[in-house]
Order: sequence, then C-alpha cells, then structure tokens
Amino acid sequence: MENQTAPKKRIFSAIKPTGSFTLGNYIGALKNWVNLQEEYDSLFAIADLHAITIRIDPAKLRAQTLQSYAILSAIGLDPEKSILFIQSHVHEHAELAWILNCYSQFGEMTRMTQFKDKSAKHADNINLGLFAYPSLMAADILLYNADLVPIGADQKQHLELTRTIAQRFNGLYSETFTMPEGFIPKVGARIMSLQNPLEKMGKSDSNENAYIKILDKPEDILRKFKRAVTDSDAKVFYGEGKEGINNLMSIYSSVTGLSFEQIERDFDGKGYGDFKVAVAEAVIEELRPVREKYDMLINDKAYLESLYKAGAEKATYIARKTLSKVKRKVGFIS
Ligand code: ATP
Ligand code: MG
Repeated sequence: MENQTAPKKRIFSAIKPTGSFTLGNYIGALKNWVNLQEEYDSLFAIADLHAITIRIDPAKLRAQTLQSYAILSAIGLDPEKSILFIQSHVHEHAELAWILNCYSQFGEMTRMTQFKDKSAKHADNINLGLFAYPSLMAADILLYNADLVPIGADQKQHLELTRTIAQRFNGLYSETFTMPEGFIPKVGARIMSLQNPLEKMGKSDSNENAYIKILDKPEDILRKFKRAVTDSDAKVFYGEGKEGINNLMSIYSSVTGLSFEQIERDFDGKGYGDFKVAVAEAVIEELRPVREKYDMLINDKAYLESLYKAGAEKATYIARKTLSKVKRKVGFIS
C-alpha cells in the first residue's frame, strides 16, 4: 500500500542456509526482523551465495535453503509486508560484488575477524570467496540502498567495511549508495555456545549440544539446557567469569522481556538446576508456534515456490536499477 507521507526507511538483512537456524540466529537477528517489518520497507534474503564459501553438499544446500525460507515465513515474516527472497535468484548480487571487489582493499579484507576464524576452522579450503565475503555482503546491502541492517554483533565489522566501500565509491563517482547503519539488539546480540560460553553459538558448530535449533523438539531443548556449561558458583547473577550464566540470562531476558535485575530477584535462593529448566521452558514456548507453522509450510512446496519466485521478482526490480546506475558510473557501455 502506498504511504502518502514520508517514505519508509528501508532495511535489508540476510542469513546463510549453512545449517538449521539456531537460537542465536533467532534472538540476534530473526526475531527483530519480524518487529522491524512493521515499520520499514523490508527485504530479507537466504544467502546461498555466501553459504558456498564453506564446502557444502549440494543436496544439503538445496534442502536447507528451502527449510530456511520456510522458517522465515514460520516466524511471522509476511510476504505482503516484506520481500523474502533467495540471494542467488537475483544475479545482480554477484555482479555488483565483482565490481565492489575492485573497490575493496586487500589490507582491509585481511583484517576481518570472521575470515580469520573461518579460515582457521576450514584450513583445507581457504577460498577466494571466503576472503571476498564482505564485498558480497556490501553488494547485498548497497543494491537495495538499505538505511538499516539488523545484525548480530559478529557482523559489525563487515557492516563497517560496507560503509567504507560505499563511501569510497560515492567519493569517486558522486552519490550512488545510501550509507547503511547497523541495528544491533541491546540484549542477545551475541548468544554464546552452550558448551563453550566463550564462543558464539553458530549453526555450523560440530557439537550438537552447543546450540539450540529453532526446530529442535522440546525434549532436546530441555536436555541441551540442562547440560549447558556454567560455573561452580551456584548463584544466578550476571558477572565476570560467569559467561555460561550470563548467556542463559541473556537468552531468558530476550525471550521473556525480563530485566537482568528481575531475573536475579526471581531466582534468588534457587540453584542453577531450576534456572536452566526455566530458561528451557521459556524457549520451548517461544519456539513452539514457529515449529508448528513450519511443519505445515514445508509440506507445501508449490506454495513455497510461488512465494520465493514472487520475492525474487520484487527484489530484482530494485536491484536492477542500482546495478545499472553503478555500471554507468564506472564506465561500462549500456
Ligand atoms: P555460520 O556459522 O555458518 O556463519 P551463523 O549462525 O553465524 O552461521 P549467519 O548466517 O552467519 O549465521 O548469520 C545470520 C545472522 O545471525 C547474522 O545477523 C548474525 O549476526 C546473527 N547471528 C549469528 N550467530 C549469532 C549469535 N550467536 N548470537 C546472535 N546473533 C547471531
Ligand atoms: Mg556467521
């Protein structure tokens, strides 16, 4: 529907189909998308181009892409309000990324901590795509002239690089790209692994007990929280050296809306056992409707296909305009 007054600001965000989405993805990114779509002109993508920077079995990638797309709908993203699409369906992403590669410096890219982490984890496959990941991410964002980019704290550095690239391009060729701002949630921007609270919860972790999946069954959620690594203090409060408990408190706070002070009061005199069960139950109830909706959607492949095709068409319409402007500015003949 047309808004007669001020135009809405635009947001863009994406998530990789590298595994089943975790509670970290949900709290740090997806949950916010649902709220933001009410206020913004929104685009959300399943980043399959980014997913192949790590070796991934094709059948698995296909299944996970569809699964991931269904989860976007299941969490409450509405195709009438947001553009929901699969990144590789809009070839402008790869095309703009190549151009932006030529405006990104080698030195800048080598400073990216995600590149360092992922190349340490996948030492046998340190490919150029992994290295150039941030310029593709810049292309994703700049193609749509997004004003705001909701992300977890781990993506802050990439967003800053996007701004550097945009500024450089605008400086060379006159105003072309909108300067995007990051939107990082106050609580839950960095949900940590349940097995090693010093590391972030990631969906490509090899230890299944380290993360909760959005689609995990209630009994698995309960079991994983019960096994969560904590400390020997046995008192529920937020503090240094209590990373495991701090993490559970962040999760509980994000899901229930309770402040840390309130949580400390509620669990005064209670042990970690009680607290872990309370966190598990809150998460189970939060995710229950998502899983139920997902189960319905994933069995309706034709409907899903109609959604992602329509999404790609709408995204392409915007992306094409930006890309042709960029091509003209750098000197390509149209
Ligand atoms: P991978 O391990 O494959 O990188 P990932 O779980 O980090 O997977 P991404 O697709 O890289 O997922 O990130 C999707 C979004 O989820 C990003 O906005 C990212 O900041 C956010 N995110 C990822 N992990 C966490 C986490 N542990 N806590 C909060 N937000 C997170
Ligand atoms: Mg990641």
